[in-house]
Amino acid sequence: MAMTTHAQEILAFPPGFLWGTATAAHQVEGNNTNNDWWAWEQTPGHIADGSRSGLAANWWQAAEQDLALAAQWGQNSHRLSLEWSRLEPREGAWDEGAVARYRQILEYMRGLGLVPMVTLHHFTNPLWLYEQGGWENERVVSWFARYVERVVKSFGDLCHFWCTLNEPMVYMAFGYLSGIWPPGGGGLGAVRKVLRHMAQAHAQAYEILHRHQADAQVGFAKHFQLFEPAEPRRRADRWATRLVDHLFNESILVALTDGALLLPLGPDLGRRGGRWADFMGLNYYARNLVAFDPRRKEELFTRRFPDPQARYAVEGWGEVTAEGLYRGLKRFAAWGLPIYVTEFGVPDNDDHVRPWFLVEHVATMYRALQEGVPLKGAYFWSLVDNFEWAAGWSARFGLLALDPATQERRPRPSAEVYRRIVQANGLERSLVAEFAPQLESQFFDRGC
Ligand code: BGC
Repeated sequence: MAMTTHAQEILAFPPGFLWGTATAAHQVEGNNTNNDWWAWEQTPGHIADGSRSGLAANWWQAAEQDLALAAQWGQNSHRLSLEWSRLEPREGAWDEGAVARYRQILEYMRGLGLVPMVTLHHFTNPLWLYEQGGWENERVVSWFARYVERVVKSFGDLCHFWCTLNEPMVYMAFGYLSGIWPPGGGGLGAVRKVLRHMAQAHAQAYEILHRHQADAQVGFAKHFQLFEPAEPRRRADRWATRLVDHLFNESILVALTDGALLLPLGPDLGRRGGRWADFMGLNYYARNLVAFDPRRKEELFTRRFPDPQARYAVEGWGEVTAEGLYRGLKRFAAWGLPIYVTEFGVPDNDDHVRPWFLVEHVATMYRALQEGVPLKGAYFWSLVDNFEWAAGWSARFGLLALDPATQERRPRPSAEVYRRIVQANGLERSLVAEFAPQLESQFFDRGC
């Protein structure tokens, strides 16, 4: 790669860059008994290790202890989500007790100097919504609008930085295609409805938040995956890759930013030409190869799998490589909007991978910044081990290792790596030399 190397000993990030971690309500709060996930977890076979979210990381009682550590480690922002089923436990009812607790958490964060980025929907739905068809029911758009309006009235003095929806495509794929998440499948008809309603709900939320807050910053979190042809010389693999990329990455990105519904989500929402985002949130985890496979009708004749040569890959997940983050950042930059990496992380129970993962991904962000990508912040997934959806407690993502039974937590070695990056507002040469030595000559002058 052509890049000017640096005589200095640090890859410095811009002043004011936001460094944080991300969490989601159901995964950390505990006892979210009134949503579709809690109900789903009770059926044997739904969660890989047979576990349940239970007390999760006990944030409803004690979020403060982990947030205090995040601030102590130098972080200046945190992305968390609000649990709709707590705030609106019954259709139309608004729980002032839940409002008070979230206000307490948000005030605490601000007191610590952690700018809150608040996600409004992160995979879970109140039971009353679930029982009426969830996101397949067109009324969800107005229900979500009412919820957002109440949220901005309840918390608008504490938060200006909103992420409407987390990963609509992941929500759709697991909930309605593979069916490993609630509601357990639905088929292509349901998929199209759900995604259209999500795109409409996002656009409405954008308008409502701006109506109430002149300075609102409203975006979304889009899970970007890098897809590449399994055999680049095979036309069928190139076609399959384009199809998967269009369906998973492109169509929803266009819907959430420009308000246009491309096929197969279309026809158009009629909003083309507008802008329905002030920033773009990029969640990045993995790269996968794509092959044409005539036997897989249910996956539109495509097959996705990690590169067999990959240094680190997790079956059913993909290959862990910073290259995909770089490609995602460059692609998002075409919109010209500020970008936040709203999640990046790795399932790594014994912390073998996380230290080099952090260094390589932060080096990639630096590379993108050098090339003019308007990257404004990054949120590592996650601060503390949390309930990993259908994988239960079997996949760990935290800087803090958690024993959910005792609630004891202990910082993993990678917590120290991230602390050093955040406190230096950049990547020190010594970290690169220790954890990603193959990158040292790419970024730093020789012979220092
Ligand atoms: C989701 C998180 C999840 C993480 C790791 C993201 O797709 O937003 O809720 O825990 O990936 O799987």
